[in-house]
Amino acid sequence: MIKYNEFEIISNFFNKYQKTDKNLIKGIGDDSALIKIPKHNILAISTDTLVEGTHFFKNITPKNLAYKTIAVNLSDLAAMGALPKWITLSITMPKSDNQWLKCFSENFFKILNQYKIILIGGDTNCGPLSITISVYGLIQGEKALLRENAKEGDLIYVTGYLGESAAGFFLLQKKKYLINIKTKKYLIQKHLNPIPRISEGIILRNFANSAIDISDGLISDLGHILKKSQCGADIYLNKLPISKNLTNNFKKTNYFNWALYFGEDYELCFTISKKNIKKLNLAIQKNLIQCKHIGYVTSQEKGLNLIKNNKKVNFKNIGFNHFN
Ligand code: ADP
Ligand code: MG
Repeated sequence: MIKYNEFEIISNFFNKYQKTDKNLIKGIGDDSALIKIPKHNILAISTDTLVEGTHFFKNITPKNLAYKTIAVNLSDLAAMGALPKWITLSITMPKSDNQWLKCFSENFFKILNQYKIILIGGDTNCGPLSITISVYGLIQGEKALLRENAKEGDLIYVTGYLGESAAGFFLLQKKKYLINIKTKKYLIQKHLNPIPRISEGIILRNFANSAIDISDGLISDLGHILKKSQCGADIYLNKLPISKNLTNNFKKTNYFNWALYFGEDYELCFTISKKNIKKLNLAIQKNLIQCKHIGYVTSQEKGLNLIKNNKKVNFKNIGFNHFN
């Protein structure tokens, strides 16, 4: 089989599906890409690196890797209320493996096309497998969703369900088992192919006070909002969005742990003031967003509390522990 050099890799796998849009002055092929930012828009930029052994296992398929690298980046833009438009890809590989590159790039472009995102540049290197993606998105109207604007009295919400990605991970690892093949496949899918909440973020930008995407677990990520906003929070354990897929099949300590600490669900956690709840309810009615109320923002002195039957729960007493 022919081994391609760096330039051949770029032209054969990454520069063959040239697309453009009205704001893109120059894409792949020059010393840098050029973009015209439309008036009254903010450019949102986010970068993430995925390294073999740290962020994904050696046996991950190129198809799943392509999906996950894009999804985790898009999720960061979603949490700001941005619409993703352009992407750059820096890829480091131990060798030039045509079959692997074909599979990776085909899926990469398939996903980009779904989201109408254009690959505008990148870098190609030899070394241990690692992928860095930067996504560039637009925020219309110049108001982004920040971590720092939560206010005491805000209601706290989470989109979708929590803990399903964790369940999928442990099923993949064969640390957990499920007889029901359909549910097992669904949960593994949730781990491998999380859906970035882009349209939800764009809607929430109009009336939520703060937001973050849940990559490291609700406690950790909500903790970032609280720290930046200098607030505390009460979270009601029995209000957490935990699906029947988990409650019917796993132990309580497992699914509460997963929902609170595992992360990788890439759902949005957001806070919204009482006066804007009507707007949110309207969006829920129109099926524009699926989300659940899980607690309230309180004062910083009160800290972050888990509440069960009107009582504070001691994190340690119920067997919760942090994942490393
Ligand atoms: P330079 O030496 O100036 O960094 P490169 O040879 O690395 O240029 O890249 C040439 C062009 O190909 C640039 O436009 C760059 O953005 C693009 N490019 C390089 N690698 C990739 C990749 N993996 N995906 C998309 N574009 C790439
Ligand atoms: Mg280069």
